[in-house]
Amino acid sequence: MARGVFLLAIFVATTIRFDAAAPIRYRFSFPEPQHRWMQVEATFPDLGPAGLELRMSRSSPGRYSLHDFAKNVYDVHAFGADGAALSTTRPDPYGWNVPSHGASVTVKYKVFGDRLDGTYLAVDETHAHINMPAAIMWAHGLDDRPITVVFEQPARTTWTVATQLHAAGPLEFTAPNLQYLMDSPAEFGPVALRQFTVDRHTFRFALHQAGTDADLDGFVKDVEKIVRQEGAIYGEYPDYEPGSYTFLADYLPYADGDGMEHRNSTVMTAPSSIAGGRAELLDTVAHEFFHCWNVERIRPKDLEPFDFDRANPSGALWLAEGFTQYYGPLVMQRAQLVDLGSSTREFAGLIESASAPGHLMRTAEEMSRMAPFTDGGRTFERTNFSVSVISYYPQGGAIALALDLSLRDRSDGRVSLDDFMRAMWRKYGKAGGSREGYVDHPYTIADAESTLGEVSGDPAFARDFFARYIQGHGIADYARLLSRAGLEVRRRSPGHAWIGDVRLESRGGARVANLMSPTWPIYASGIDEDDELQQADGRAIAGANDLATVLQRHKPGDRISIVFKDRTGVPKTTTVVLGEDPHIEVVAVEPTAAQRAFRDRWLSSR
Ligand SMILES: [Zn+2]
Ligand SMILES: [Zn+2]
Repeated sequence: MARGVFLLAIFVATTIRFDAAAPIRYRFSFPEPQHRWMQVEATFPDLGPAGLELRMSRSSPGRYSLHDFAKNVYDVHAFGADGAALSTTRPDPYGWNVPSHGASVTVKYKVFGDRLDGTYLAVDETHAHINMPAAIMWAHGLDDRPITVVFEQPARTTWTVATQLHAAGPLEFTAPNLQYLMDSPAEFGPVALRQFTVDRHTFRFALHQAGTDADLDGFVKDVEKIVRQEGAIYGEYPDYEPGSYTFLADYLPYADGDGMEHRNSTVMTAPSSIAGGRAELLDTVAHEFFHCWNVERIRPKDLEPFDFDRANPSGALWLAEGFTQYYGPLVMQRAQLVDLGSSTREFAGLIESASAPGHLMRTAEEMSRMAPFTDGGRTFERTNFSVSVISYYPQGGAIALALDLSLRDRSDGRVSLDDFMRAMWRKYGKAGGSREGYVDHPYTIADAESTLGEVSGDPAFARDFFARYIQGHGIADYARLLSRAGLEVRRRSPGHAWIGDVRLESRGGARVANLMSPTWPIYASGIDEDDELQQADGRAIAGANDLATVLQRHKPGDRISIVFKDRTGVPKTTTVVLGEDPHIEVVAVEPTAAQRAFRDRWLSSR
């Protein structure tokens, strides 16, 4: 008992110490926005004697490749409380150390940013769009310190700030700790704000656009439909920490298309306008808002807490991103914002992606772990990703489609993927975190499997499903599953001869412009990227049309000879046994009464 009291005393003392520490203070100013840089001043008070390790993030939550944001930072100077300059060192490319200092250090630096999306910093005369990991220098070991952020109004502007940070004034905000700050993007600009309430929760839509107020008003009505449909899946909304959820949208010609989820907000950027790209913009709303449950609170264990010093690989992105990718268009259908044809095209796209050759080379879990190389990552060298990697977005979306239909199929519509998501929310998401910005009960893949066992009432079904489609190389029987809803999976070009999805570039001859997959008929012929096709079946080949003409004269199983020059210039002749074009489409057929009931339970509004 004495020991317990002793520990409690330490705990209280520790808490008091953190509470007593003055906040770390950031000040953002924009002396020359036309030149796309931001001035940052950061003060770290109440420091101990150890050297201060100032860091720029290497990664950003929700985007899984390394970005090494230190590359955009320059003019770095550190000062003590008395204003005297302190010397800094560069122990590695990612930060600055201040080896000796007093109780307080202020660092001043400039950071350049000219990419308007969910990952980077964008500063110009129209706004400052700030993703925190791209902009702020933080210090190792001070993760739990409270933080204050102050925005300085640029000359001749009347910008306002939209953010999930806690407001302490029009241009002053707070965060309880580093994790929450890093998760809180800010839009500082001419923001138009609308809000609505559902089930006592407030939703704010903050838009920077070139369109009209009427465009925005109409758009927000559709956003509310999406918010209601997604709330119906989970049965409730999370308790958003600042008291509201905020959509941060930049629909501007100079934006890059992106969506990025956060706990209590999302950043959505697009070069299109509401008038010009409505359906696509709403699809992003549906995807990103779903994340306020799935990934932000129903969180994979390998992403919690997020580590800003390295890439954060997860084996569960097929669920965190892929299931979200499935629900976005599904919710658009349930909100009656798209027609059935749009949904069947989505389903066909998911099935095609999941069936791509890469599924034989890596499992869904392994594809998720490729994210640090593929999600916003760029490789200098050639890779074989085009044939060996499937994005976990459509692959996971296809797995969600298979799981939703399987659950409905085996329960006659009584159990669905909605039940699984709700169960995951209740077990892992709803409790939230004892510290704001954290999740106390993140899930493992084994947890997801056991939850499926509970929801389906059949652990053996769950084990089999995970073994086949998450940890194995199986492809679900989509034709049978979709037929339950009166949707037919069929070949787009039945009986057409096919050599593989070869891209030819007419540059002098017909140069092969992509890597050949081992699953394509042409692979065995030895032809591959950079080789030049000259003749097929006796006909001169100068481009893609010539090859298509040859294929039209043949049927699957025919052999044709191909004359080509390999990339070293050596002439060769080979033979290809043609296959059948495997590409599929999904079409709605006139449903029986049972099929209609199945389809309605699945796709109609809640
Ligand atoms: Zn903006
Ligand atoms: Zn997403």
